[in-house]
Amino acid sequence: MTEQPLTDKPATHDRDLLRDLSELIGVSGEEDAVRDWIACEIRELVDDLIIDPVGNLLAVRRGTGESDLRVMAAAHMDEVGMIVTGFDSDGTIRFSNVGGLDARILPGSRVLVGPDHIPGVILWPPIHVNKSMDTVPISNLRIDIGSLSKNNAQNGIELGDRIAFDSPFIELGPTVRGKALDDRAGCASLIKLMQADPFPFDLHVAFTVQEEVGLRGAQVAAQRIAPDMAFVLETTACHDLPQDESEPDHTTITQMGGGPVITVTDRTTVSDPRLVRHLLRVGDAAGIPHQFRSPMHAGGTDAGTIHRTRGGVPSVTVANPCRYLHGPNLIMSLEDWANQARLLDAAWRALTPDVLSR
Ligand SMILES: [Zn+2]
Repeated sequence: MTEQPLTDKPATHDRDLLRDLSELIGVSGEEDAVRDWIACEIRELVDDLIIDPVGNLLAVRRGTGESDLRVMAAAHMDEVGMIVTGFDSDGTIRFSNVGGLDARILPGSRVLVGPDHIPGVILWPPIHVNKSMDTVPISNLRIDIGSLSKNNAQNGIELGDRIAFDSPFIELGPTVRGKALDDRAGCASLIKLMQADPFPFDLHVAFTVQEEVGLRGAQVAAQRIAPDMAFVLETTACHDLPQDESEPDHTTITQMGGGPVITVTDRTTVSDPRLVRHLLRVGDAAGIPHQFRSPMHAGGTDAGTIHRTRGGVPSVTVANPCRYLHGPNLIMSLEDWANQARLLDAAWRALTPDVLSR
């Protein structure tokens, strides 16, 4: 029995956890609001809680003492966004991307600029005058905060201020929509797992910074934790929509509703096959849905840097399939999300040093 039973139907307080985390703003390098919120939420659950020099939130949830395995679990706090690079005389704001953004989906998006969250819109000429099909590069886009002069725009906004998507979280029945589910959904799962009964081993938890700009925080966290193995809780691209009717069997990356995604390979990692097998075995035995991410040389997670830390760390990623990743409106299945925590809970309770034997 767990203190908070993990089911595949998230309760109201679980959905509230997702809502609160998705709506917090924490563009890479400025994760403070997310970190403060999570620290508050987990303080009572952990035996050790620190903020390391780069801003990772590191905690230890003591186990029952049955196992001395050092197990690391990581989820990144940062989200993709933008950064102010200049001001134009007409009062609009120049910007650059922070993390991977697709210039094709930016025009017309609502954003929040700077620490005061000043609302703005990414400029786009209306269809009446815009006859071009070309993508406007990010360097040519501007943010309109309704200011009519440079002086006015600079009032409360500075160079280097972060810009986040302005997108409230909503529930859509079996799914939810929000802006920063990558990777606040992983952070929320990690919090739920910390609320569960203690595991046989001490769980070393890292809520990391700067994943979206190069997996930077996780590298520092793993150096300090020196784990025997690592599990990364992430979000991954779901592209399961029809493309061309003449090609009904188009390749999908992951399927919405197919369960949490076990990554075999991506651009940065080959997941440790022993941990992949363990997850599969446990998932099958417990009847928890799961799927593979179509192996491809794209995307990356904190596992990409954790597995190369110190003498090497066997690592694996378990991710929530999300549509429209790195945009303002991600859509994710609540059941997939709930099963991410269930799969890891089951895997950790069955984890012994034998799992790593060759
Ligand atoms: Zn992510």
